[in-house]
Amino acid sequence: MSQTVTQTSTPTEERAHHLFSPSTLQSREACACYRGKSGTSAAAETGTKQHAVVETGRDDETLDDDKALAAAECLDYYQRQKELLEEARTRAEKELIAQAIAAKVATYVPPAAVLDLAEIYLPVDGKTFFDVVNGATVTTKSTTAGYVDRCLIAHDRKYAILLDWKFGAWAVEHAKDNLQGIAYVLGLFRAYPTLEQVKFVFKLPHLDSMTEHTFSRSDIPDLYLRVQVVVARSREAYAKVDKDDFSMATPMVPACNFCALIGKCPKVQAFACKVGSKFHPLQIPSDITPTGIKSAEDTTMGLRLAQVLAVWASAFKTQVTDRVIREAGATGVLAPPPGFRVETRRDRDIADPVTFKKTTLSYLTEKELEPLAKYTFGSVEEAIKEKAPRGSKGTTVEAYKQALVDSGAVKFGDPYSFLRGVSETNSKKDSAATPKS
Ligand code: SF4
Repeated sequence: MSQTVTQTSTPTEERAHHLFSPSTLQSREACACYRGKSGTSAAAETGTKQHAVVETGRDDETLDDDKALAAAECLDYYQRQKELLEEARTRAEKELIAQAIAAKVATYVPPAAVLDLAEIYLPVDGKTFFDVVNGATVTTKSTTAGYVDRCLIAHDRKYAILLDWKFGAWAVEHAKDNLQGIAYVLGLFRAYPTLEQVKFVFKLPHLDSMTEHTFSRSDIPDLYLRVQVVVARSREAYAKVDKDDFSMATPMVPACNFCALIGKCPKVQAFACKVGSKFHPLQIPSDITPTGIKSAEDTTMGLRLAQVLAVWASAFKTQVTDRVIREAGATGVLAPPPGFRVETRRDRDIADPVTFKKTTLSYLTEKELEPLAKYTFGSVEEAIKEKAPRGSKGTTVEAYKQALVDSGAVKFGDPYSFLRGVSETNSKKDSAATPKS
């Protein structure tokens, strides 16, 4: 009989994403109003590739050496755990054979194979909730549910190991108290009622760290209560935040660092201002100049403050822009704040370098183009403008841009909008042109 039954998900499978997913629970416990950011980043995409390497066992040559090594370390660890469970199954089978021989019976029932499951979905209960998300009612199944990276279940179906890989730079809560792990453990106990113990392991190869804890079935009531409270408070806070009520918010590091609401949450704003006062009590706000900071201690404080405020400033701009554009979509009224207007742009990319060069050589000589070997639109257009006769510099650049489009040398990305500061006079002109409701 086979030692192991392996089951893996299809990479292209559409995945259900729970509104209160296990990976957000630790942050939600810290702050009930916490909301995860959507979208992706280069680091997240690298992490996804590393997860795929561990899941499939196949190398990804686009990964840097250290990232590939980290994935290989997790793969080794998982294979070792599987090997130990398979060995336990072999021992159990030998024992059964020995018993059959001693009892002088001709047959025995071999132990079940070790179960090896990748990316299984684990709901913690069978409840149904109705949540309002962006004004629409959505049905949420289970208090929380998510996909665990790897699950190994022993031949006796009494013991299991859950494995989760963390390729980021942040440490995680100890497995004993980690709500993400606890949610998966609850889901597995529910899915396999014969399980008596589940070991949960978080492996963090880039931090050279690992945390694990073995849970017993008797732990379920306490663990489930904790998960229920966290999700119930988050659900209540979710509805409040939609009405701009942040009374349940509790600023915490690192929850705020990853929160999608950092740009509009008044509690974290108050926290950021408090940090400012503490670091520079006599210099708020305009006296905080780089040349004013003399000591090493003040420099460290200034750099820390700059990091926090940079994150806040970027998120604030994004939130305000989104709101203005969303309101314009809903009401038909474009109402940027005084002193700003909405501009829409589309980034350009060189689609065809040969045609790009051919088109450009109608405006610049080979000799003039050569120093711009690493073309950017800015440098080439600046050179064309410089060479164009006085009085036609602007129109020549515009003609060049159009020629690139007409020849297919460039392609456009998706349009995006942003708020641009304008002079007082222009601002008045813009608001006069804005339709009134
Ligand atoms: S930014 Fe506000 S809502 Fe988000 S985690 Fe921090 S305190 Fe909570």
